[in-house]
Order: sequence, then C-alpha cells, then structure tokens
Amino acid sequence: MATSTALAVQGAVLIDGTGRPPMQDATVVVEGERLTAAGPAATTPAPPGAQTIDGRGKFLMPGLVDMHVHVYTRDKWHPELFLAAGVTTVLDLGGQLSDLTAYRGAVASGARSGPRILFTGPMLEEGEVYPGFAGFCRHVDADRIETEVDALADAGVDGIKLYVTTRPETARRACARAHARGLPVFMHQHATWGAEAALAGVDSVEHLNVFGQLAPAALRMAEPGKLTPFEYGGWLWRWFGDLDPRADHVRRLYDALIGAATALDPTLVLYAARPGALGDDVGDTSMDDPERTRLLPLLPSPVSKELVGRWAERRTAARGASEVTRGKTRRAWDNMLEVVGGFHRAGGVVLAGTDCPNVAIVSGYSLHRELELLVRAGLSPMEAIMAATRRPAERLGKRDLLGTIMPGRSADLLVLAADPLADIRNVRRIERVIARGVAHTPEALLAGLPKS
Ligand SMILES: [Zn+2]
Repeated sequence: MATSTALAVQGAVLIDGTGRPPMQDATVVVEGERLTAAGPAATTPAPPGAQTIDGRGKFLMPGLVDMHVHVYTRDKWHPELFLAAGVTTVLDLGGQLSDLTAYRGAVASGARSGPRILFTGPMLEEGEVYPGFAGFCRHVDADRIETEVDALADAGVDGIKLYVTTRPETARRACARAHARGLPVFMHQHATWGAEAALAGVDSVEHLNVFGQLAPAALRMAEPGKLTPFEYGGWLWRWFGDLDPRADHVRRLYDALIGAATALDPTLVLYAARPGALGDDVGDTSMDDPERTRLLPLLPSPVSKELVGRWAERRTAARGASEVTRGKTRRAWDNMLEVVGGFHRAGGVVLAGTDCPNVAIVSGYSLHRELELLVRAGLSPMEAIMAATRRPAERLGKRDLLGTIMPGRSADLLVLAADPLADIRNVRRIERVIARGVAHTPEALLAGLPKS
C-alpha cells in the first residue's frame, strides 16, 4: 500500500465517467486525497518525485458506487471486500445510525480499508415496522414527518429512505422537507403505488416495485403496505411474465417517472437470485460464476458457508420446479430486463445498486454482476459504467466530490487490465484500486479480510 503522496498513472486509456469517448494515452495525477490533473500524457507531466504507475495497455475508470447496500451488523460488514471489487463509495439505504457512524469513522481513520460510506440512517415507516427489520427501521409520526426528516438531517445523513408503509401524502411532505435540506429521497414502495412516488418527489425508486402499478386488475391489492418486502417480491413474480412491455400503460409509467426526474435503481442482482430466473435448472447461473467461487476460500468462513448454503437452496428449489413454473419465471425475468431497458431507452436515469448483503448477495463483487445485467437489459457498457459513477454522484448531489475523473475530485479510480467498454465483464479485471488517494491491490485487500 502506498501512502497518499503524489501518484501518476501514465499512458492509460481514460474512461472518465462523464460518458465522453475514452481518451487514449492519458495521464492522471493524484496528490493527497485529490485528483489534480487528467489529460493527454504528452501535456500532463507527473509532479517531481511522484510515484508512477505504467498505465500503457491499461484502462482507467472512476471507482464504482453501489447505490443500495446495507451495512447491517458487524459480522456482515466487510469493507475490504467492497474495495477489492473497486467499490469506493457505498450508499447504505437502511441501518442504525450509531453503527453506520462507527463504520464510517473506522474507514475514514484508516483502521479498516473500505469504501466511503454514505447513509440514510433508518428506513422511515408510518405504519407498523416489519419485525425482521426492527433495528433498521424507524416508526415515524406522519403528522410530524418534517421534524423526523430534520432530526436525520441534523444527524448528518446523506439522504432519506422511505419504506413500505409510507403513504403518498407523507412521502410528498418528506420529500419537500428533505429537498429543502439538500437531501435526496430513496423509496422502497408498497403503500405508495407506482408513479405516486415520482409525483411525491422521490429521487430514486428502489427495486422493481414501481412496476407494481402495471399489475392486472384482478391481482391488484387492497393494502399493499401490509405485505412484507418478500411477499411483495413474490407477488411481482406471479404476473410479471404476462406483462406486455410494449403496452401503452408501461410507456405512461416511464413517462411519469421521467417527467418527475425520478431515477430507477432496479437491483437486478436481487431478482437474479430467484431460482430459475437465469439458469435452466440451477437458479442464477451466476451462482457458479468462477469469480465468486474463486473468492470463496478468501472470504470469512461464515460468509462463504452462507453463500454455499444459499446456492444449494436455490438449485434445489429450481430443480423441484415444474416446466410451467420455470417458463413463467423465465418470462418474468425477461420482462424485468425489458422494462429496465425500456425505461432507459425512453430517457430515464438508471442507477446501479445491489441490496447486498441481503439474501447472501456478495458485497462489492455483486456490483460487477449488476453492471453485466444492466448491459443485458440494453444499456451500453458506457451507460452501465455511468450508472455506477456519474449518475450516483449527481443523484447524491456530490458531483464535485466523486463519480468522474476530473481535477478536484476525490482520487477514487480503478486501473483495469482490459477494456470494460469492449466487454463490461472486464470491470472485474482490477489491478489497482485507488481510494481517496491511497493505492491498493485487490489481493492485499482480500488477504486482509478477517477469516472468521
Ligand atoms: Zn435494501
């Protein structure tokens, strides 16, 4: 690990995160925690005495941002894993303030190597808190929602997370107050239905719940706010395969979201974990992804045990499913990709998030998978990269800090051995991760993970 003195990566292909075409033979200079120069190698000298990295034949891109994680409890928080995967910033969308503040402090002080941690604190519920999530949710008095938002803003959150029982009028008031305090609002919606979230002013709708609005009339629910998050997901899977993604009501939903400038964070990896969603008979084929199996022996043993157990469960469930069920699941999955691609083609902003470590989704590395799925949905590799770099920075109101490789930004960048624009899976070919000016190798970070 280098200390944060001057560092120059010379002669690489620069993908700066803005969406501009890559710059051949570029040099990027880091001084302290900041990027101080990025331009053609011929006109961008390394400062005297700088450590240099030969970037010829390599690709430089901004550090990745995972827009939907849960830091959760100590045993599930593996900051080194995020950083080894090139994730230099995470947005926690539901956790305990005291824990989050402590984790952020541990990374900021250098006690643990990890990503920058942004957070919303607890998820706000106006109804009953789902018992399984008691520690990560806060029941709020809807009549005093402004006071609740103010309290979180005063505690230093980076956004507000509204959860399943929050109704449209409460969401609208929460958004107005949050925006007045300069904070974006993220929503996992049940009781606020479809485009109502966009009308309320929500900045990003999480998962694919917004598409619940497209359910056939016979399957509409009287009280969707009473479902658990898992039940809601199951309900979507029941009818999503029968949806016609080209229908007028689908287009109207895209238009409503786009008209309100509401982004979509689909967390496709979460749906891909459904048995039969991707593979013919083994659930998500990514479960046998060599990248993940390669990682297994390097992970703390409780994590690898949980993963292997989950994969086995999914395989068993997928094998036990009838042909009819498998076909239905496959059609639903195809439509999920179709609506994400359709929303993007219509001009909507897509963000990359994973919901890790829920349902044993691997921290950090699952974001590579998400980018791959976004490309499968119809985003170009450049657009998928932007969904994990520039777009998150813009949505978080932090474009001057992160998301693009430009002088003045935080020095968060990745050196890749192969071109991610030629094949998005090349985001896995990470040779170095530079986070806030400090250069790491994935191997050293993985070796630094606690083993138990
Ligand atoms: Zn979540």
